[in-house]
Amino acid sequence: MVLDLFKLDGKVAVVTGANTGLGQGMAVALAQAGAKVVLVGRRSCDETAGKIAAFGGECTQVLADLSLKESVQAVLSGALSAYGRVDILVNNAGIIKRCDAIDVSEQDWDAVINVNLKMVFLLSQAFARQFEKQNEGGKIINVCSMLSFQGGIRVPAYTASKSAVMGLTKALANEWAPKGIQVNAIAPGYMATNNTSQLRDDADRSEAIIERIPAGRWGTPEDMQGTVVYLASKASDYVNGYTVAVDGGWLAR
Ligand code: NAP
Repeated sequence: MVLDLFKLDGKVAVVTGANTGLGQGMAVALAQAGAKVVLVGRRSCDETAGKIAAFGGECTQVLADLSLKESVQAVLSGALSAYGRVDILVNNAGIIKRCDAIDVSEQDWDAVINVNLKMVFLLSQAFARQFEKQNEGGKIINVCSMLSFQGGIRVPAYTASKSAVMGLTKALANEWAPKGIQVNAIAPGYMATNNTSQLRDDADRSEAIIERIPAGRWGTPEDMQGTVVYLASKASDYVNGYTVAVDGGWLAR
């Protein structure tokens, strides 16, 4: 039956940046769909683990700073030693630095590009190699942004990184679709998390944003849940290289 296609029983899902925000919402959803979830964070993911334990779901935690490339192997080994295999990678961890383009430092540029783009590639590559070994395919879900489509204001490195991640999603999908690995992305709209606290603290900016969202509200981590389960499941096996906007209609306007 069609709803069975969405079940993730027996699957192992790795979610980066799972301690808070959208990563927490997606990790909870994947666990609710039946996956064992590896929560990756640079600090404790106890809050997320508590939410998963509350409904009897299964998860483990891997502490890793994703600004360091050594973390790629640490994440994969942590997942394999906990559950023996991996099936789903959600590249959610990301940072944003708001500053006039004219004043952006090289250090801040590199920090954003490293976490938001380079680590997404390196983790995807390491997981795809593991998926090949397991020979049962796999799912990679990247987290893009409205700024994969638009320029934004005062976030040039972030826009560059998220635009690149949308392109990378297509590039990897083309190479790995024949191996049964689907690479897709979700582009969240304006969501109420730490990432947007500065915007939401600015009453005028916040009002202008809400006014432009057809749905008339900020998104929430729960708004990501249906889409991530779909892209992680058999239900999306013939979907490759696509970026799904979960944006309350922002891009339609
Ligand atoms: P968030 O609350 O700031 O979450 C970002 C996550 O990434 C946090 O768990 C953060 O850990 C983690 N992270 C950042 N740098 C890391 C590092 N070096 N090592 C390990 N983890 C690291 O914001 P969010 O909105 O949930 O963001 C999740 C993703 O959605 C990001 O890729 C973001 O760009 C994207 N996104 C968000 C929005 C939005 O409106 N909120 C819109 C479009 C796209 P810490 O908690 O330790 O910082």
